[in-house]
Amino acid sequence: MTQPEFGATPWGRAWVRAVESTAVTRPNPLLPKARSLARNNAVTDLRTEPGRVTATVSGHSVHIGLPLWTQAPDGVVADHTGDLPDELAGTLTVAVPLAEQHTECGCRARTPHCAHVLATLYTLAQRVDERPVLAVTLRYPLDAPIEPDWIPLRDIDIAGFYGD
Ligand SMILES: [Zn+2]
Repeated sequence: MTQPEFGATPWGRAWVRAVESTAVTRPNPLLPKARSLARNNAVTDLRTEPGRVTATVSGHSVHIGLPLWTQAPDGVVADHTGDLPDELAGTLTVAVPLAEQHTECGCRARTPHCAHVLATLYTLAQRVDERPVLAVTLRYPLDAPIEPDWIPLRDIDIAGFYGD
């Protein structure tokens, strides 16, 4: 079985469901376009912080505001890879329904969820798949040691790294 392109983990899947919830009653013609934009790397400069996602999509600036949780979620302990136990995804409502998002896009579309905003959300779902703890830090400013001590490879002194 191949992994879904968006929503390969329960965390990313929660976001994909939120994005696609409008399509339950009637097809949303913007969704295929949004997926195509995300797939073709039209979403650049995606940045996330608690309560806020920004990106540039096909030259349009996208801002998405998300409501924050009022308290830290129980039981969230991320390992250094940013992974979280799948079971937790069933107890936390990490994704924000479209209606509760505050969105802005520089395009002229009249819908608050134009293809650019939706493409940003699909790309966000992929980022969450890669690093599930992002699903939580989008909603609460955890001050736990969440960021891994990543060292860019170029900064490692190879000789020193392996010892001599
Ligand atoms: Zn737009």
